[in-house]
Amino acid sequence: MARIVQRIVQKYGGSSLGDIDRIKRVAERVKAARDAGDEVAVVVSAMAGVTDQLADWVREVAPLHDAREYDVVVATGEQVTSGLLALALQDLGVPARSWHGWQLPIHTDDEHGVARIREVRTEDIERRLAEGEVAVVAGFQGVGSGGRVTTLGRGGSDTSAVALAAALGADRCDIFTDVEGVFTADPRIVAQARKLDKITYEEMLEMASQGAKVLQTRAVEIAMKHQVRVQVLSSFADTPGTLLVDEDEIVEQELVSGIAYSRDEAKITLVGVPDRPGVAAAIFGPLADANVNVDMIVQNVSADGASTDLTFTVAKADLEPAIAALERVNRDLEFKALKSDSNVVKVSVIGVGMRSHAGVARQMFQALADKGINIQAISTSEIKISVLIAEDYVELALRALHSAYGLDSR
Ligand code: ASP
Ligand code: MG
Repeated sequence: MARIVQRIVQKYGGSSLGDIDRIKRVAERVKAARDAGDEVAVVVSAMAGVTDQLADWVREVAPLHDAREYDVVVATGEQVTSGLLALALQDLGVPARSWHGWQLPIHTDDEHGVARIREVRTEDIERRLAEGEVAVVAGFQGVGSGGRVTTLGRGGSDTSAVALAAALGADRCDIFTDVEGVFTADPRIVAQARKLDKITYEEMLEMASQGAKVLQTRAVEIAMKHQVRVQVLSSFADTPGTLLVDEDEIVEQELVSGIAYSRDEAKITLVGVPDRPGVAAAIFGPLADANVNVDMIVQNVSADGASTDLTFTVAKADLEPAIAALERVNRDLEFKALKSDSNVVKVSVIGVGMRSHAGVARQMFQALADKGINIQAISTSEIKISVLIAEDYVELALRALHSAYGLDSR
């Protein structure tokens, strides 16, 4: 009986392509999929560490660099691996060729360094896939409106893969990495963490945006929007990974599915802010103008009716520009003091189950209190509760929460 040809996108991360032997092993894996009769397009990252090195070189030459030239430099890591993998496949007798972003092309906007994909053209590779050729696509890169090379932000080859899978109408998008899938918590910190067989798109989106690094947030957004069947799995093992699914595909929904954390946080407190209408706008407006994203916000009611304190968090890299922007506007604002602290971590518990259950927050606060961990700020969404705590307590907090929600492996 004729087998139905499946169209598969495979993405390999930097550690899976970390040296020549590993690239050859990836080629074997790609060959196996193609030998099974499937159409295979592969998206590659740069070799582990290469993008960091390239970005360092850019900063060494010019700390305040032209973002267009930054992209020219950092996009090269993926060009190397796409060529090498195509060669390794050819060496195994598999017809293959490399594709760079501009060659497909993958059109993006012109936000160099953090570009967003507008359209992936697939006519050329579809024709060749049908002829049995493997397409090896350089991830992380595209081409802007003026024909210049763009990159999609760190971790962006996940997004390249999911966008390509969506454009190709692929049956599956397998994201091969160095971990076995998505875990209930970072297994390097929580020894009891378990691999999840399935996770909803929504939960994965929160996990990624709250600091879990398995997938780029934008990749999950595209997968959710276009219903791409994404699987995260290890290229070093032959075990099934974690599948991204819709909520109705999960039979036994846990209250909390996972715990994420982010060290990329800094806290700013404005002391003695006058308590009158328009003050929040006067503070957050200039921050937005300075391209500073504000995350958690805590404002006290004023005890004396005249002034109050305001605490909020920004990404670590935005701390200096945020302070500069606030000091510029302080002539009109007249707050008494500005304090900042970058030794803070945001810990988030995530689960669609909390939509229909009360008490999830109380459990979190109690578990932290039992360990003597002070909460500095809180924010919530329908399926997530985040707290800001001192950096020194992150391991303790993650382990305590993991047990409190019954996530520990048995
Ligand atoms: N090589 C790029 C990075 O290190 C893109 C990626 O690996 O996804 O960020
Ligand atoms: Mg990655």
